[in-house]
Amino acid sequence: MSDCIFCKIARHEIPARVLFENDDLFAFHDINPQAPVHIVIIPKVHVENVLSASDEHTGILGKLLRAAAGAATQTGIAETGFRVVLNNGVDGGQSVDHLHVHVLGGRKLAWPPG
Ligand code: 5GP
Ligand code: ZN
Repeated sequence: MSDCIFCKIARHEIPARVLFENDDLFAFHDINPQAPVHIVIIPKVHVENVLSASDEHTGILGKLLRAAAGAATQTGIAETGFRVVLNNGVDGGQSVDHLHVHVLGGRKLAWPPG
């Protein structure tokens, strides 16, 4: 998707504070952090959201969760705890239509979310 902001980040066309990158995924610090640590992890392939994902994306979905654990470890929030969030659709608060998970931590997070 040429006009997708997260595709552009994955292609290095828009700068981001990169946490890590591999063949499948790209992880970067959120531009508008909601916690002391707020990482966004995206697949390099454009998938709109979890509803659009199909069986061919099962591997990517697993890799996103494994990468979320890695991001928590890398940013030092694994011990104290963290949250992995996947917003989906309008009511879910999804503002970028490219599948992504948020990794949030570094403070006590409220539950339930707003
Ligand atoms: P969503 O609301 O779709 O679940 O999450 C999208 C997230 O991407 C938001 O937290 C927003 O702050 C972040 N975001 C949007 N545009 C950019 C950008 O250009 N750079 C970075 N680093 N984060 C972005
Ligand atoms: Zn995209």
